[in-house]
Amino acid sequence: MNNLNFIGCDASFEEAQTILFGVPFDGTTSFRPGTRFAMQAIRPDSYGLETYSPYLDADLEDVMICDGGDLELPFGNTQAVMTQIKDYCTDVLAANKMFYMVGGEHLVSLPAIEAAYEKYPELHVIHLDAHTDLRDDYMGEPLSHASVIRRCHDFLGDGRIFQFGIRSGTREEFEWAKTHTHLEKFTLTTLAKTIEQLKDKPVYITIDLDVLDPAVFPGTGTPEPGGISYTELLAAIKLFQQLNHIVSADVVELSPQYDVSGASTAVACKTIREMLLTITK
Ligand code: MN
Ligand code: MN
Repeated sequence: MNNLNFIGCDASFEEAQTILFGVPFDGTTSFRPGTRFAMQAIRPDSYGLETYSPYLDADLEDVMICDGGDLELPFGNTQAVMTQIKDYCTDVLAANKMFYMVGGEHLVSLPAIEAAYEKYPELHVIHLDAHTDLRDDYMGEPLSHASVIRRCHDFLGDGRIFQFGIRSGTREEFEWAKTHTHLEKFTLTTLAKTIEQLKDKPVYITIDLDVLDPAVFPGTGTPEPGGISYTELLAAIKLFQQLNHIVSADVVELSPQYDVSGASTAVACKTIREMLLTITK
């Protein structure tokens, strides 16, 4: 543990509009673990960034963001971890603030999205990922990072989930998606239309960084070639600015030790800055 805040996130909980926090959990990771170490790498490396974003013409120094630290989680009890994340997110939302959660593996999004749904029953989810994450279970386990979006569908229902950049999953998942979610394979071409459609709806945004090509972002547990460029991700974030009601968001699946150059951690840091500035107006 280090005591450093993410750069520019120096507000107290009380004064902040947005609470940044980390969830060092990789308990259901199907291939290579290590996302639990993401925040430990991100916080110190965030000092390689400027607080100012020339893309958004906005500065972390001009908004009130609190770095709430990392949740301290029990080992070996997925359900207890889910409860702890949900309770934290519920508390933040009850204080009329937003949260920006940094994983951890993708399963951490489930309790966060559940908490957002309980406050905003009209919730819609925008999901960027290489993977469908729509398995009903992974080797018999319904709580898995390969099932996270399917578990969200259990309570959100049809027409609420919008998936982009997807290029890996079973045939059954892709078939299932045809009648239950909006799923765009490979690219983000229909994102602008989706944003227009969801303009005034409550929206939660979950970004699995493996949506990026492994050439850009090799530091992840399940790298999947054929992904989007960083410029395309920045363009997507720019589009998110047109949403009037982003309720909270997350970013997941950095495994810093798989990229010794540190470039993947830099990708995560920059994405966090851009997203913090997007949700905190
Ligand atoms: Mn995922
Ligand atoms: Mn993925």
